[in-house]
This record gives sequence, C-alpha cells and structure tokens, in this order.
Amino acid sequence: MDNDGPFFKQQAFIDGQWCEADHGGTLTVLNPADQSLVGTIPNMGKKETERAIVAAQCALAAWQGLTAVERSDYLLKWCELLLKHKHALATLLTLEQGKPLKEAILEIDYGASYLRWFAEEGRRVYGDVIPAEKSHLRYLVLKQPIGVVAAITPWNFPNAMIARKCAPALAAGCTLVIKPSDLTPFSALALAGLAEQAGFPKGVINVVTGEAQAIGEALCQNPVVKKLSFTGSTPVGKYLYRQCADTVKKLSLELGGNAPVLVFDDVDIDQAVQQVMLSKFRNSGQTCVCANRILVHERIYEAFLQALVVKVQALSVDHGLADADIGPLINPAAIEKIERLVRDAVGRGAVLHCGGAVHAKGLQFYQPTVLSNADATMAIAHEEIFGPVAVLYRFRSEQEAIELANQVSVGLAAYCFTENHRRLWRVAEQLQYGIVGVNVGSFSAAVAPFGGVKESGLGREGSKYGIEDYLNIKYVCMEV
Ligand code: NAP
Repeated sequence: MDNDGPFFKQQAFIDGQWCEADHGGTLTVLNPADQSLVGTIPNMGKKETERAIVAAQCALAAWQGLTAVERSDYLLKWCELLLKHKHALATLLTLEQGKPLKEAILEIDYGASYLRWFAEEGRRVYGDVIPAEKSHLRYLVLKQPIGVVAAITPWNFPNAMIARKCAPALAAGCTLVIKPSDLTPFSALALAGLAEQAGFPKGVINVVTGEAQAIGEALCQNPVVKKLSFTGSTPVGKYLYRQCADTVKKLSLELGGNAPVLVFDDVDIDQAVQQVMLSKFRNSGQTCVCANRILVHERIYEAFLQALVVKVQALSVDHGLADADIGPLINPAAIEKIERLVRDAVGRGAVLHCGGAVHAKGLQFYQPTVLSNADATMAIAHEEIFGPVAVLYRFRSEQEAIELANQVSVGLAAYCFTENHRRLWRVAEQLQYGIVGVNVGSFSAAVAPFGGVKESGLGREGSKYGIEDYLNIKYVCMEV
C-alpha cells in the first residue's frame, strides 16, 4: 500500500461510514522527507466528534454483549489482515512519518502483536469470589467494560500506539473514538479500513481527524465517554487531564520521558555502545524511551565516547523508503528545537564530536550528533531531545549516577549497563522509572507492562495489566 493503494483513505470513519468534514474543509499531510503532498484529511471538529461518540455509544451494548471469544475472533481477524498487508502498511507509514522502512515493518509487527495478545487476554478477564465475613452472604467481584473510550495518539508510532489502545479496549468490550495525529493520520485510517474488512460492527471503531483542540474538548467534556487513553507530550497530557476532571473520567496517560542511561565501568564497552545506539537512534531519535542522557563512569568515559562516535559517524541518513539508518524528523519545529538545544549545550560548555547541523539530504534531516561534557545546567538535560543527538555526562559513583538519573520530573524508561549483579538490583530498584532496561537497549513487548511514573503518566499498556484500565470492578454482595 502506498498513497494510491486500497487502504489509503482520505476520509474519516464514523459509524461505519467514510465521511468528510461537515463544512468540507481539509488538512494536508506532507511527507517529512521532501515536503511533498501525501494526501488530505477532513478537518473535523466538535459536531463530527459528537456524532462519533453517539455511534460508539449505540454500538456499545451489542459489542459488550458478545462473548469474549467472539470479540477475540474479530481481533484475530484484524491482526491477520495487518500482517497480510504489512509491507503496504509500512510503506504508507514511512511516507507520512518518515521512519526507515525496516523500522516501519517492525512497527506493524509490533502493532499486530497487541491485537493478538489482547485477543487472548480478553478471554482471561476473571472475576473473584471473596470469602465472606458472614455465613449468609456471598461476595463477588465482576469485571465489566468501562464503556465508550476516547483514544488520542501521537505521530511517532502511528500504527502501534493505536493498536496498543484499541486491542485491550475492544477485548474488554469497550467501543472507541480515535483521534490520530494530523501529522500521521493515514496509518490510523488504514487500520480502520482493515477493521471494516475484518467485519467489526459499525460504530465499534470510529476515527475522527482534524482540529485537535476542538476534537479533544468534545471527547473530554462528553459524559458518555468514560475513559480517555492519551499518548503524547506531558503538557498536552496535563491539559487533557484537567479537561477530564468535570466528568471524572478514567485516564491512561502515556506521556513524555527523559531516559537516563547509566553505563558503569565494568561493562563490555562495545556491547554497551551497540545497545545504546539501539535506544538512542531508533525512529531517528524520536521515541519516548530514547536515551536522552547517557551517564558514563569517568573510568571508561573516553573509551566509551570514542567507540560511540565511530558508530554514530557510520549511520546512513536518507529518505525512509531508501531504508537508511536515520530518516527525516517529523517537521520543521523538531529541527528548530534540536538546533536550539545543541546551541545552548555548546554555549554552556558541551563538546561537539560529530554532526551538529542540518544534513545535506534536506531541510528536515539532522546529522547524527554526539555531544560530551554535558551537565544539568543545559536545557538538553531537561527536555526530550527527540532527534539523533547523543549526549554524554560523566559520573564518579553509583549514588551520584542514581541521583542524576532521578533529578527530572518525568519517569518513563531508564537503562543500566553493568555486569555486577548486586549493583543491577540496587540500581534497578532505586531508579524512579516505570521501565528499566538492564544491559538492553530495547525492551518493548506486548506481553510486558509499558508506562511511566511521575509526570510520565498513569496506567500501563500491554501485558496482563493493560486490560484492567478498560474495566470497572463491580462488587456484588448477595444474601443466600
Ligand atoms: P502531542 O503534541 O502531545 O500530540 C499527541 C496527540 O495529541 C496528537 O494526536 C495531537 O494532535 C493531540 N493534541 C495536541 N494538542 C491537543 C489538544 N489541545 N487537545 C487534544 N489533543 C491534542 O505529542 P506528539 O508530539 O504527537 O508526540 C510526541 C510525544 O509523545 C513525546 O513527548 C513522547 O515522549 C510522547 N510519547 C509517549 C509515549 C509513551 O508511551 N509514554 C509513546 C509515544 C510518544 P495533532 O498532532 O493533530 O496536533
């Protein structure tokens, strides 16, 4: 599939119908590699969103009335279609998002893995029978679908972030209104097209595109919507959290990170560098779990730096379909942010070893960059870089490394490299993060819980815990 394939949809999907905005307005979507037009989407707002909510509400009773096995069958069929059209979906994803095709293919596999996992987990939503305190009573716990769910998703994983929300919601018996990022809506619409082909009843899955502020307000303020699942930046997450207060919605918030990487002096440097590269440069540095601060013990600092620079200089940079290591960044604002962060860091004493400028491939490509000698006075230590810039900090002791790692307001993912098994327990336990990778640069899996602490959010996606966020607990006390 590319932008003239059968699942390339330039309309939104409400109540089983492909539709335009009421006023007919559209937004354009550009390819970040060369700013060419990928397509247009309806510029919808409050009214269309409210219609989608009504559609989801009308579809709810029948959907939750199905057996878990029946819902599971729909998810498995959807998963099968995703995998069948993997290359076409990945091509479309690369066109609108920019990531190298090999990574886009992995993302489709990753998205499909959530559909498969929750197709299985939906069949294991067990209640409880609690030993009662009085002989004539029986205490039961039922788990029931929470109802209509709103899902707002970011541009950096336009397929997988939707699959990660839809799969547990649908398996639990909820219906959905999805608002994808306007920067990458076509992966979401392609998913809706495949859901239609999988036979999901109308109204169970709705996708609205357009005005983020208006759609967000309509979703957050509507009492029919019982839950918001949001993945995106911390400032927008906080704003939506406040908007949901009046209707006391259940919330899952997967927000920004500032991942520290602790590299101790007992590691195999080449192996550690290889794993750090994996974490730092995936999606051209645009993931919420990308290594943001690489803290290296002073005894191996210079050797680690040299080995890292060699690897970074070897990275190829090109259009995502050319399948290089590094693609374009999502938009001009991303380039401006990186230029500001690098300028500020160098101005405050960071040393530039390679890169440090826009790449000759085009306006939205940034050279893979290494900075050393960084410290906490620099803006780059406190903001998500979201680009191909590796930044090294020096530490002298385990305690200092842990303190540096924890001195930020967010806590999504952290990494620790050491061969000392006592230290890895101590460090993993003390890091104030929802996820800790030990001697690995990649850890995401549908079977494992993904999510943060502190200002990185609320709730967990994936794993046996992920479905709980879409269920209400009902306690039934029965006299017998
Ligand atoms: P973003 O700007 O917060 O946008 C996320 C979504 O929210 C998009 O669909 C966006 O729509 C929408 N949005 C923006 N303003 C809104 C408003 N006022 N009301 C309602 N919706 C609104 O984040 P992003 O730049 O797309 O994504 C990058 C961020 O996501 C990073 O901070 C990254 O760390 C985080 N992230 C976290 C995880 C995780 O699992 N914790 C995973 C991936 C990404 P438009 O794009 O159409 O404006």
